[in-house]
Amino acid sequence: MIDQFGRKIEYLRISVTDKCNLRCVYCMPMEGLDWLKRQSILSFEEIADIVRVMAPMGLCKVRFTGGEPLVRKDLWKLVEMVAQVPGIEDISLSTNAILLAEQGQSLRDAGIDRVNISLDSLKADRVDAISRRPGSFHRIMRGIEVAQELDFHPIKINVVVIGGQNDDEIEDFALMTKDKPWSVRFIELMPTGSNLDLSAKSFVSCQEVLSRLRSISELHPVTGPVGNGPATYFKFPEAKGTVGVITPMSHNFCDRCNRMRLTADGQLRPCLFGDIQTNLRDALRETRDIVPLIEETLRIKPERHHLIQGSMEGSGGLVALSQTGG
Ligand code: SAM
Ligand code: SF4
Repeated sequence: MIDQFGRKIEYLRISVTDKCNLRCVYCMPMEGLDWLKRQSILSFEEIADIVRVMAPMGLCKVRFTGGEPLVRKDLWKLVEMVAQVPGIEDISLSTNAILLAEQGQSLRDAGIDRVNISLDSLKADRVDAISRRPGSFHRIMRGIEVAQELDFHPIKINVVVIGGQNDDEIEDFALMTKDKPWSVRFIELMPTGSNLDLSAKSFVSCQEVLSRLRSISELHPVTGPVGNGPATYFKFPEAKGTVGVITPMSHNFCDRCNRMRLTADGQLRPCLFGDIQTNLRDALRETRDIVPLIEETLRIKPERHHLIQGSMEGSGGLVALSQTGG
């Protein structure tokens, strides 16, 4: 799958649910969202069917995301189905890790190779405040321990940098990579309908993150760990892990985009933002051929997103990243 800008599309991010057991301040409103109706959500069989169609077209990497993917019952069964599709070489998971201690083993056995875990602070009270769910920190840390025990590799820790809430911990997060073979990635806060005020007032650019890190120690650019994506990676001398920055706002990385997204209700989205999406679910349920729909979505994949800080403009009306899988 090559798009009109010459980008090779080989990666599908699959959102398995729009629901979540947390309410991160930058992602979802406290009261949650209007959840998708059960019947509009793709079944495991339907998701696997879409992967089976896309694999011969060039799909080789899949990531499960959400909402929180682990709140979808028996996710491991879907992982197992997708792992059996010829051509799928890499299966990963983005999770808040709240349920990872319970489910890690079955997911590993089913075929998940690596995990990205969201952790926005190293302080329990802050994680609980940012996620707006008391007790989160200890469950996430236990989830990370289990991920290490199960040898998921690499473990990537995603930190959304929020001015005034966790930006004084940038150095502490980065210094962990000296001893731990993790990849700690700082993500710029993106504006969506549910966080316009926060994203306007609390944005911290990754340029600032990097200049703070360079003031602690030398930082060398490196090729990132497995899973080439939008992050740019660096390493402290002798460190076991790496530090990454993901800069959707200050530096557009769309020229390297290698992915499409499938929402929980079966919309194929060529870009995280914007309003282009193709309804694969209905076509599948009407037993129509979805190949032409996938080809057309690829053909109209935009060159880049046009996000503007503190504004809905360019976001395509997206209320929360949990709706498209982040
Ligand atoms: N629930 C899982 C998690 O939190 O890792 C997976 C879904 S979440 C939508 C995927 C990623 O998007 C997480 O790393 C999260 O921190 C990030 N994210 C959500 N809203 C964001 C925003 N407004 N700006 C930047 N990153 C955001
Ligand atoms: Fe849930 Fe992930 Fe959004 Fe936090 S970022 S509310 S964990 S979907």
